[in-house]
Amino acid sequence: MTDIIYGSELSKELKREMKTQVDLLKQEGKRTPSLAVVLAGDDPASLSYIKGKEKACAEIGILSQMHHLPADVSQEELEKCIRSCSDDKTVDAILVQLPLPKGLDDEKAIACIDPAKDVDGLHPMNFGRFFMNQPSFVPCTPLGIMEMLKKMNCDPDGKHAVVVGRSKLVGTPVARLLQNANATVTICHSHTRDLKEVTKTADILIAAIGKAKMLDASYIKEGAYVVDVGVSRMADGHLSGDCDMASMMGKAAAITPVPKGVGPMTIAMLLKNTLKAYQMREDHE
Ligand code: NAP
Repeated sequence: MTDIIYGSELSKELKREMKTQVDLLKQEGKRTPSLAVVLAGDDPASLSYIKGKEKACAEIGILSQMHHLPADVSQEELEKCIRSCSDDKTVDAILVQLPLPKGLDDEKAIACIDPAKDVDGLHPMNFGRFFMNQPSFVPCTPLGIMEMLKKMNCDPDGKHAVVVGRSKLVGTPVARLLQNANATVTICHSHTRDLKEVTKTADILIAAIGKAKMLDASYIKEGAYVVDVGVSRMADGHLSGDCDMASMMGKAAAITPVPKGVGPMTIAMLLKNTLKAYQMREDHE
């Protein structure tokens, strides 16, 4: 039997715990944690992600302030906006929604985030510290994936984890987290030969590709733990993951669905990182 692990359910549990934390801060007369979101342009997917993030902040009592810039904003204006959030004492956390419209340099933009407010963990300072196993912010999606594995009762220690995808946002950092959890990790990408031969040896398979239903049951071994990160919009408007979940049912030990899988956990981890940024500031002031 294959367990379906819903991030939508797990994130509700985590949000309830975080709401209790925020309520307590308010009862104690403390400052309310706050997240600044910087969005450039009107990409429908980005707008929908941002809406979800704002809604989640409101649910647990975190303040969110939106900086919505036009798609043709100059790099200079974008950086000015991010720097002003970095300098703003009322802001604990900053999220720059990616991808930025064409013509804008995301690396330069992210470098303008105060590393102490970088809740997406993409500033080079945090990324470097993370890979040196020093205290840092870790990107939200990989953190969410690790929580999903916990919910599956899957301890990565000693297991072979195969990560398909090597992006800065997902594949590379989740591979590091798995390695830190004592898994033996293989990272695959578009140049990997005989992908199926590799994925078939995985005790844990993380699919972070962005190609709808690319992996079916023939890509996994019996009893594998599968986390499907990919999100693709199909012609009929539905969302699909990288895995053909129906075909894996009965073969995988556990699997995460798309939608209602990793997506809600990414948001929960954003809230968690925002509370962490808040606490770090409180401890230093
Ligand atoms: P990305 O930057 O486009 O990376 C995709 C990775 O997949 C690359 O490393 C690429 O290899 C690899 N790849 C592409 N085709 C492949 C193939 N045929 N065989 C093996 N590997 C292949 O995407 P991303 O930002 O990591 O995101 C991946 C997916 O997760 C997307 O669908 C995205 O929407 C989704 N996502 C979901 C969440 C969430 O919260 N649910 C968050 C972030 C991302 P190369 O490096 O060789 O090009």
